[in-house]
Amino acid sequence: MMIGILVLGVGALFFAVAGLMASDMAHGFAPFLMYLITSLLLALAIGLLLFKTHMRLRRALDRSHRKQRQLHASARIDSLTGLHNRAAFMRSLEKALESWRAGGPPVAVLLIDLDRFKIVNDTHGHAAGDDVLKETARRLGSFQETNSTVARLGGDEFVVMLEDDRGGIPGRVGRRLLESLAAPIPIQNGFVRVGATIGLAASENRAVTGEEMLHAADVALYDAKRNARGTVRTFETGMDEAMKDRRMLETDLKRALAAGEIVPFYQPLIALNGDKLIGFEVLARWQHPVHGIIPPASFIPLAEESGRIGEMFYTLLARACDDARNWPSDLRLSVNISPTQFAEPLMASRILTILSKAGFPPARLELEITESTLVDQVSSARLILTTLRNAGISVALDDFGTGYSSLRHLNDLPVDRLKIDRAFVANAQRNDEDWRIVRAIVQLAGAFNLATTAEGIEAPEILSTLRDIGCDIGQGYLFGRPISAEQTSLWLEERRPIRALAS
Ligand code: C2E
Ligand code: CA
Ligand code: CA
Repeated sequence: MMIGILVLGVGALFFAVAGLMASDMAHGFAPFLMYLITSLLLALAIGLLLFKTHMRLRRALDRSHRKQRQLHASARIDSLTGLHNRAAFMRSLEKALESWRAGGPPVAVLLIDLDRFKIVNDTHGHAAGDDVLKETARRLGSFQETNSTVARLGGDEFVVMLEDDRGGIPGRVGRRLLESLAAPIPIQNGFVRVGATIGLAASENRAVTGEEMLHAADVALYDAKRNARGTVRTFETGMDEAMKDRRMLETDLKRALAAGEIVPFYQPLIALNGDKLIGFEVLARWQHPVHGIIPPASFIPLAEESGRIGEMFYTLLARACDDARNWPSDLRLSVNISPTQFAEPLMASRILTILSKAGFPPARLELEITESTLVDQVSSARLILTTLRNAGISVALDDFGTGYSSLRHLNDLPVDRLKIDRAFVANAQRNDEDWRIVRAIVQLAGAFNLATTAEGIEAPEILSTLRDIGCDIGQGYLFGRPISAEQTSLWLEERRPIRALAS
C-alpha cells in the first residue's frame, strides 16, 4: 500500500516537474508553483482514497477471518457450556480408539445423564435449566484427570472419555463424578439437586468403533436408569440382548396399536352408600395374537418411553365412549392418564373433541392422574386440568399415599377425589398400620372437601369397615375384575346383583 502511495507521489512529482519545464519556458515561476501544488494535492487525495479503500478491505478480511474461526469453533464447541460438542467428541474418540488398536492406552467412555433435569426445567424455567447445564459442565470440566476429554452430547447428556481403563479407574472416576454432580447447584432463586446416572463402556470389552462404544455406554445407562438411578453401570453383553428385545417389543406395540389390539377392559365402581353401580374404570389390555392378554404393566412403560402413550390413550378413550353408548346413560367412566401425556399442550382440546364426537357428556368422565404428574409437570398439568375441569370433567388423584402426598398442595390442587392405593386397602385387614393410613386418607379428603375411592377391595370385612368410615366409592375383585366390553354389556344386560351386595 505504502509503495502504491509512493509510486503515485513520485509520478505526480514527475508530472509536476515535466509541467514546470514546459510552463517555465513559456510563462515563468507562478504558474509552475500552482501546477506543483495542484499535482501534490491530487497525489495526496489519490493516496488517501487508496489508503481508505485498503483499510476497508482489511477490516472486511478480518471480519471474514473471525467469522471463519467462529464457524470453525462452533462446529466443535457447544455454545451454551463451552465444552466440546458431539461431533468433536466423536473425532477424539475415534482417534483414541485408533491409537489403542495401535498399542496405545485402552479407552473408557462414561455417559452421564442428569436425573432430575426435566423437573428443574419445568418448575424453575429454562434459565434455571441453563444454569444447571453450565454448572454441570463446569464441574465435569474442572475435574482434572490425565487424558480425559469432556463433551456435551446434547440436552442433559454429557460424556467423559478416559484414555486409561486400568484397574477399575473409570468406575472410580464415575463415582467421583456422581458425587460432584450430587451437590446442590445454585440457580437464581436458590439451589436445586439434580443428580446423575452413568453408563460405562470400555474398549477392553470388544473391538469397537466410536459409535458402537457410545451405544454400549447408552445401553448401560438405560439399564441403570431403569434399575438403579444415581449409580455407575458398566456395559455387559447381556444388556444388549435385553435392549434388542425391548426394541422388538416396541415395534410389536406399534403394530398392535395400528391393528387395534390394545383394548379397554372395564372394572365396576360401586357407590358404597346405597350399593349402586356408578360406572367403570377403563383399564388397558393388549390382546396379543400370539401371547394372549398382556397386562398394562408390561406395555404402558414402553408406550410412555417410546412416545406412543398419547396415541394409545386417545384410541382407548374413543373406544370406551363408543362402548358406553350401549350402557345406561348415568354410568361414568374413569380413565388413567400417564404423567408423560401432560407434555402435550393440545391434550385438553383433543380429549374434548373425542367426547364431543362421541356425544359423551364430559360430566360422565373422570381422569385418574398420579401425584407425580402434579409434581413433575406442575405448570402444564395445572393448566390442562383446569381447562378440563371447567368443561365438566372431574379429576382423581390415583394411588394416593404412595407418592409425595403433599398436604400443603391438597387445598389448591385441581382434583376432586383421592383414590386410596390398593396396597393399603388390601393389607388393611392384616395390618393395623395400613388401616390407620386408609382412615387418615378418608378423613384428610373430608377436610379438603374431596371424595374418596378405595381400590383393591377383596374381602367383605374391608368393605363394611370402609363403609363405616365414610369412603364414597369402592372398587375391587369383590365386586368384579376388569372384563372386556362384550362381557360388560352382558353383565349389564343380565343385571346380576353385585356379588358383595348379595352376601
Ligand atoms: P391402577 O390405575 O391403580 O388400576 C387399578 C389396578 O388394580 C388394575 O390393574 C386393577 O386390575 C387392579 N385391581 C383392581 N381391583 C383389585 C383387587 O381387588 N385386587 C388386586 N390385586 N388388584 C386389583 P391393571 O389393570 O393391571 O392396571 C395396572 C396399572 O396399569 C393401573 O393401575 C394403571 O396405573 C395402569 N394402567 C392401566 N390402564 C392404563 C391406561 O389406559 N393408561 C395408563 N396410563 N395407565 C394404565
Ligand atoms: Ca387408576
Ligand atoms: Ca390406583
